[in-house]
Amino acid sequence: MKIGVLGMQGDIEEHLATLEKLNVDAFRVKSSKALDMIDGLIIPGGESTTMLRLLKLTGLFEKLKNMIQKGLPVYGTCAGMILLSKKIVSHAEQDSLNILDISVNRNGYGRQVESFEADLSIPLLGNKPFRAIFIRAPLIVKMGKDIEILASYDGSPVMVRNGNVMASSFHPELSGDLRIHELFLRMVKNASYR
Ligand code: GLN
Repeated sequence: MKIGVLGMQGDIEEHLATLEKLNVDAFRVKSSKALDMIDGLIIPGGESTTMLRLLKLTGLFEKLKNMIQKGLPVYGTCAGMILLSKKIVSHAEQDSLNILDISVNRNGYGRQVESFEADLSIPLLGNKPFRAIFIRAPLIVKMGKDIEILASYDGSPVMVRNGNVMASSFHPELSGDLRIHELFLRMVKNASYR
């Protein structure tokens, strides 16, 4: 099983380090050739506008969208969630992959100085709470009925899934808890992408 971390910008190394702890073959993906090799992809947190620009510049935008539509398992964290969303309400002019039927507000939980941590209940991961780190996180303001909510905070969903696509507004790669990455690996294993 080969897992790619979209390597345009953002906290790529942290995801790779987490995957390494889980003994997975993981590498940075920033070319069409590398995309062809993977069974699953993590889109890291960072700056969604920068990642979007680089995806378009390298011509990977359409190819990646196509692959996800064909069933490639993907997990987007923070800026990754923004890229996967259908609509960015706070920045209506900003394009996105339009994969997940959610609408988000960028920085919906406040600015960098308003970053915070919270213990989340994620039933899919068992009883032990998950320490979630939110950094200029997107706020989900609207979503379609097919979206599965895996975790909520303060009355809004913060981790969602639809089929092969999962997204969280927080950063699991920074908390040292491996359970969300493990969950994603199970999704990849069960997927029939290849
Ligand atoms: N606020 C950033 C954006 O809009 C996302 C922040 C993050 O990924 N930690 O792209």
